[in-house]
Amino acid sequence: MVLQLEPLHTCNLACTGCGRVREYSTRLSDRMSLDACLDAALQCNAPMVSVCGGEPLLYPELELLVEGLLKQKRIVYLCTNGLLLRRKLKEYMAAAYSEEMEPLLKTLISEALISEEDAAKIREGNSQPVIRPHWRIYWNVHLDGMEKTHDMIVERKGVFREAIAGIRLAKALGFQVATNATVFCETDMDELEHLLEYLSWIGVDGHTISPGYDYDTAKVDMVKRLGKNPDEFYLTRKETRKKFKDFQRWAAKFNLFGTVVYQEFLVGKRDLSCTAWAIPTVTPRGWRSPCYMLADTHYPTFKDLLEKTDWNKYGVTLKKVRDPRCANCMVHCGFDPSGALGVDARPGDNWKNFRFNFGARPAPCKEGANINPFNGDSAQDQTQNGSLKTSPKNKP
Ligand code: SF4
Ligand code: SF4
Repeated sequence: MVLQLEPLHTCNLACTGCGRVREYSTRLSDRMSLDACLDAALQCNAPMVSVCGGEPLLYPELELLVEGLLKQKRIVYLCTNGLLLRRKLKEYMAAAYSEEMEPLLKTLISEALISEEDAAKIREGNSQPVIRPHWRIYWNVHLDGMEKTHDMIVERKGVFREAIAGIRLAKALGFQVATNATVFCETDMDELEHLLEYLSWIGVDGHTISPGYDYDTAKVDMVKRLGKNPDEFYLTRKETRKKFKDFQRWAAKFNLFGTVVYQEFLVGKRDLSCTAWAIPTVTPRGWRSPCYMLADTHYPTFKDLLEKTDWNKYGVTLKKVRDPRCANCMVHCGFDPSGALGVDARPGDNWKNFRFNFGARPAPCKEGANINPFNGDSAQDQTQNGSLKTSPKNKP
């Protein structure tokens, strides 16, 4: 259903809880070639490709990769921590520049989303390939909480502020933007709800929210580097259900991506079997087996991954946990496809999923206008506080 394409594991952050930058080589030279990326998408043939990593915006051929995936008619998700988002957007603006853009430049300068120097560079133009707004492209920005929480998790100040500026600029330019959050033990669900209210108000198009799961490499890093007890950070199934108890109310209020069946699973209304094979992951080392979380081996082709992985050894079914490492896993890449594919189906599931995804979507959340998410490093800096000036009205 979705290919998780990780062309590289180079990143400009080293977040708490991220296994990727600890498990793989983060050298820029250790990346998939453009041809290998496009071939992986063809092999798997999933309608949607989520380009992740690492930080995909560091991938030197990203623009050509997006162009190639669009030619293959894929829906493209560009996952990012947001640090380089504004740079990419300014490159697009330079490529698209004409005098008609001047009023927009003026607005963006007044909103502190670009500087006078940026505007001067944009006016010079750009003939390089760029990423343009397209109905099959989403920027998918990682945000785990408001400024204080998010900057603590990503272990660097200023990341939240930059990510929000990137989101606002992307929306002002007509891009589709999604956000994704991982919920940990320490996550304050009220705070997350207020963040979603704010994001909805500034025009973010949708969200994925998944429970954090203690996969091996992240756990080891937590003990070794941070001296933390992973049990105090990652959620058990019981804790996940407690944290997600209001998730279905959220689904009526915000544009959450995914299936109603998965929501019911998260809140504890039903169990589901894992269908990890439906969201496979490819990396510079090959196709990760069995899943996005666990990597017992890597295979050279998608066919090998499907045929050589002993799927009976992994995952969770309604009756049993096949691998102890899977016992607490409720991540969306393992279980959201189960809801869409009708695994463990109940009467009416398809209709519920269909109505949720193709029916009317929630309107932008008015409460967001009163939320100030800048409660960390920039709390005192009113010039950086975007909560009062930017509104969906600024969308061209
Ligand atoms: S930004 Fe993403 S890839 Fe980079 S360290 Fe954080 S979680 Fe990992
Ligand atoms: S339950 Fe499925 S998705 Fe989760 S770790 Fe196990 S195999 Fe992977």
